[in-house]
Amino acid sequence: MVFSETILRWYAENGRDLPWRGTRDPYAVWLSEIILQQTRVAQGWAYWERFMDHFPTVEALAAASEDEVLRLWQGLGYYSRARNLHTAAKQIVSMGGFPSTLEGIRSLKGVGDYTAAAIGSLAFGLPAAVVDGNVYRVLARYFGIATPVPEAPAAFNQGMMDFGATCCTPVNPACLTCPLQPSCQAFRTGRTELLPVKQAAAKPVERHLTYVYVRFQGQTAIHRRGPGDIWQGLWEPWLTDEVPAGAQSVVKGFKHQLTHRTILADFYLWEPAERPDLPEGYVWIEEAELDAYAKPRLFELLLEKR
Ligand code: SF4
Repeated sequence: MVFSETILRWYAENGRDLPWRGTRDPYAVWLSEIILQQTRVAQGWAYWERFMDHFPTVEALAAASEDEVLRLWQGLGYYSRARNLHTAAKQIVSMGGFPSTLEGIRSLKGVGDYTAAAIGSLAFGLPAAVVDGNVYRVLARYFGIATPVPEAPAAFNQGMMDFGATCCTPVNPACLTCPLQPSCQAFRTGRTELLPVKQAAAKPVERHLTYVYVRFQGQTAIHRRGPGDIWQGLWEPWLTDEVPAGAQSVVKGFKHQLTHRTILADFYLWEPAERPDLPEGYVWIEEAELDAYAKPRLFELLLEKR
């Protein structure tokens, strides 16, 4: 088929040189796919290297504490990915090794159809087509969907991903040098900017949070966020609606953007003369030990303003 041959040829000449491309180690491939689920390659690259350094094998990752994993993930957002990664590492170890079928890969926590197809094709050469945003755009522009079943799934899927990321880009695609141009429907009908049809993005919801950073004899109080909300499992300072008398305002209305929420944070510093009682769940730690706790990026930014 002309389409898949063109992509394979294009990939051989233009594919991106990414560190996990040189391996068929399913652990390394899986790690890269989970990191790239909601993160751009440029940002995810360093995290992938950091994880491979700290946890060179799935056994090492499985044996780590959740705090260690979250701390390494810090700054990437969508922390459920890190928790799922950790759970899946334990699953893999208890299975006796990385599963090599699509169903087996799909049974890992945090792995959906897309990621299973990516890992299956890249690490095990399984003939599974990958359709992410980049790939969907290329298909939508070129044909209006007819998924080719190629003979070289790993190279084809990687080729499609790279092609969508670097040639058939969302804005200003490189149509003039594109090898698919002669038969591209979107190009022929002048609709490259109209395809694929996009859904209107939901407006982020605003949320107000008030934090009090308590300092008493070189210690501060933090608590771990529970399930069912943002930042599950991460640590943050005292979250309260009632700021104690004597607390000083450090920053008001600090804006922090998450994908579906805009956080507006007020941050206070309070240095009481006696150790105050805090609600259940808070622990006192040495301020010097704060680094050892996995924190939301917002808390880190606020700490810089202390
Ligand atoms: S001609 Fe343009 S729109 Fe069509 S596949 Fe190539 S880059 Fe994409």
